[in-house]
Amino acid sequence: MNRIGISSYTEDRLAALMQELGQPAFRARQLFRWLHAKQVGSFSEMTDQPKALLAALKERFFIETLAVQRRQQSRDGTVKYLLRLPDNNCIETVWMRYSYGNTVCVSTQVGCRMGCRFCASTQGGRVRNLTAGEIAGEIYAAARDQGERVSHIVLMGIGEPLDNFDNVMDFLSIISSPNGANIGMRNISLSTCGLVPMIEKLAGRRLGLTLSISLHAPTNEMRSAMMPVNDAYPLEQLIPACRAYQKTTGRRISFEYSMVNGVNDSPGTARRLASLLRGMGAHVNLIPINPVDGSPYSASDAANIRRFQTMLTQLGVNATVRRRLGTDISAACGQLRREEAGQTADGTA
Ligand code: SAH
Repeated sequence: MNRIGISSYTEDRLAALMQELGQPAFRARQLFRWLHAKQVGSFSEMTDQPKALLAALKERFFIETLAVQRRQQSRDGTVKYLLRLPDNNCIETVWMRYSYGNTVCVSTQVGCRMGCRFCASTQGGRVRNLTAGEIAGEIYAAARDQGERVSHIVLMGIGEPLDNFDNVMDFLSIISSPNGANIGMRNISLSTCGLVPMIEKLAGRRLGLTLSISLHAPTNEMRSAMMPVNDAYPLEQLIPACRAYQKTTGRRISFEYSMVNGVNDSPGTARRLASLLRGMGAHVNLIPINPVDGSPYSASDAANIRRFQTMLTQLGVNATVRRRLGTDISAACGQLRREEAGQTADGTA
């Protein structure tokens, strides 16, 4: 069975497919609505489509639906899902409730090859990229399970979104379409560990999303020790790429900074960070690191984080301490999948 995932098709590709099948153009929009607005799981639910068309589609295509394998519910309403993909690989998706709406944190790859030393998602390397339809399917599975609408998306789950550039771009086109889930770019954040050529490529697309950089350290020595990607794209390339991104898109970048006790949380480091980012109008999110098995890092304490924040603010850099949701299910991102993989010999569920 080598059928193709039709939920990964953008509206343009569906239009080309309908043309190829000799169908009128409006069928493409109808199909797209079934897949991404009504989010059906089978062709037979598309009740207004000609039987012959559905039969032809069924032969060549399938709908990429994800099943809930496990669910961890936090007292504050955060839900962490382990979702099973059509090929039985599993990924994690998180549902978060904020005052401004429901936010889903999606994975973009099965595993990751970026090798950040503090991150559980990268420990087994990268298995494969997710397709656009699978990433959208994470949102549909969570919304279906919760029985509620999703208003915001963050691409901050397992994987490096810019290491799966084309599928992520198709996903963004699909999910933001008014004919589909209609989640606008202003409500989408994409987080990257700092793949400079891809940041430049993304700038060229001029999307209205929020770009977030996982910075975590203001010097190459400190950052390379935490994130091997810094050897390929050191700060003297990353920061100018961020400035250029802001100039091209007119959108401010935010920086993630996970605080590690005794590693990147001293007053001297706060001063270095402030001078690195000065004049960018940047926003820094401070997050206590979530310790993972096999990592030497432990979290900075709350007083240290507050002192770091105060120093940054005094030095002219806007910084907030990220409110932590789901602390009672606080297994760091990637740990649920690793746990599940550990239960079977071949790494699948
Ligand atoms: N690959 C992308 C997106 C996924 S990681 C990126 O690197 O940005 C999402 C965020 O979680 C990143 O800022 C990442 O550095 C951070 N992160 C990963 N593991 C963490 C941990 N154990 N504790 C705190 N933050 C972590």
